[in-house]
Amino acid sequence: MEPDQAAAPGPESTRSTLLRYGLIAQAGVGVQFDVTSVARRSGNQLVNGYLCDHNCTITYRGVLTGGQYNCPAAFSLNKAAIASSVAPADVILRGIGHVIDACRMENRRFVSAEFDDYSRTFGLPSFISDVIRKQILAENAEVTLFGGSPEAHPDILDLVSGLRAAGHSVHITMTGRRVMRSPALLRQLADSGLNVIALSMDDIGSVDELRGLLRLSPDELRERWRAIPRAHGQRQKVYEAVYTVRTLEALPGPQPALLLNIAVHPGNLATMDDFLSTLSGQLQPVALNPFPIQSAFEQRVTDFPDQYLGQLGQFVAEAIEEQCRGAAGRPQRWSLVPRLHYWLALQAALDGPAPASRMSGWETWRCFRSAGSGRYTQIAGSGQVVDETGSPGGRVGCFWNESLSAPEMPAVWIAEPGALADYLQSRPARAGASAHPCDGCLFPRLVGDMVSLETGLDPALRDRYRARRIAHLGF
Ligand code: SF4
Repeated sequence: MEPDQAAAPGPESTRSTLLRYGLIAQAGVGVQFDVTSVARRSGNQLVNGYLCDHNCTITYRGVLTGGQYNCPAAFSLNKAAIASSVAPADVILRGIGHVIDACRMENRRFVSAEFDDYSRTFGLPSFISDVIRKQILAENAEVTLFGGSPEAHPDILDLVSGLRAAGHSVHITMTGRRVMRSPALLRQLADSGLNVIALSMDDIGSVDELRGLLRLSPDELRERWRAIPRAHGQRQKVYEAVYTVRTLEALPGPQPALLLNIAVHPGNLATMDDFLSTLSGQLQPVALNPFPIQSAFEQRVTDFPDQYLGQLGQFVAEAIEEQCRGAAGRPQRWSLVPRLHYWLALQAALDGPAPASRMSGWETWRCFRSAGSGRYTQIAGSGQVVDETGSPGGRVGCFWNESLSAPEMPAVWIAEPGALADYLQSRPARAGASAHPCDGCLFPRLVGDMVSLETGLDPALRDRYRARRIAHLGF
């Protein structure tokens, strides 16, 4: 690990170095909140569903869309969703407050009861574990507004400004469609204090096509976007993302930071180097977040072609070099989000048995493997019957499947923080008792910081992972 030469030796220098490698988070608490949970009709019942104006599925009515993953919020999977049932801002803000309090409690419990054991198991030097312990106990929070299209929530501006007024860092993972319809929304989001806008860019045919899109004016982009079939959500999101980026660039005054999520798959891996270099060169400043396409959360292994995993290994090796260059302040070709531990875990998984399953998410990492993992807490819909207690959604669980649902736990705007903290603590035991626990995932934000990754990592990968960590970081 190359120490921060600019800082004096000591905890601050260590913290700065850990941040540059992305091994610790800026905030002590992370919450991803699905703000577009709604009720939908299912027979005679109302169940929790999702509201989205996109359809991100691999097929639609039996025909391939070009998309590479199935999002639970896709409109074709949420027929009869009732838009008016979405929770209002004051309810969601109360729920987020409860969750943040619960996460702080659970972080304190984890640090006092389990952190030392974790540090010993993973061989952390004390000067590093001291800094990490303090970081986990930090009171500040990062909240990611998530969902189908969270910017379509009618109170989105109140949500952002309410969270900022409470002192939290606010990110939004959005599609960009509402910006395309109403570009003034970007100015309003920026004025509300939004910190980060995350957009998706993974269904694009070639780097030449990307360069072509980046040359188009917003009006030209909108014109071409109109020609995309309605059910091809991933494709629409590329155009919406470029439109949003271009509109953001023209915005005077303070702007949110920009992050691009890019699912890596057989259709784009061969040109990913050029793709990331083009984005890094033409969209400064931007943080790029590539990750292998995930399917384990829906009990699938992606059918990768023969050479794919070898090429993915080369890509992961290059990403590790890029992470190290960035942390050392050397010039980078790709402006990646710093998270060296994530790439080291991918490499450890690729170099062992069943790499296709591992890269699809199977058992490589699980948010519920221990109390230290999955600390980027998710609040989502749950597939449960909507009860009489209020708005749908708002359940501690997982956006991607229902395996963590707790039917007895009320929505977070009703549950007491202490009860929510107890639930967070009980996740490993609950999953152990479940007949069908989730098989895992490798979504970078959810995998989280180094502690979350290591405590959620399959123990069978531990030695290979640690050997790489020692080689690159010296511990
Ligand atoms: S491992 Fe956890 S976060 Fe990932 S898909 Fe499964 S339940 Fe969700």
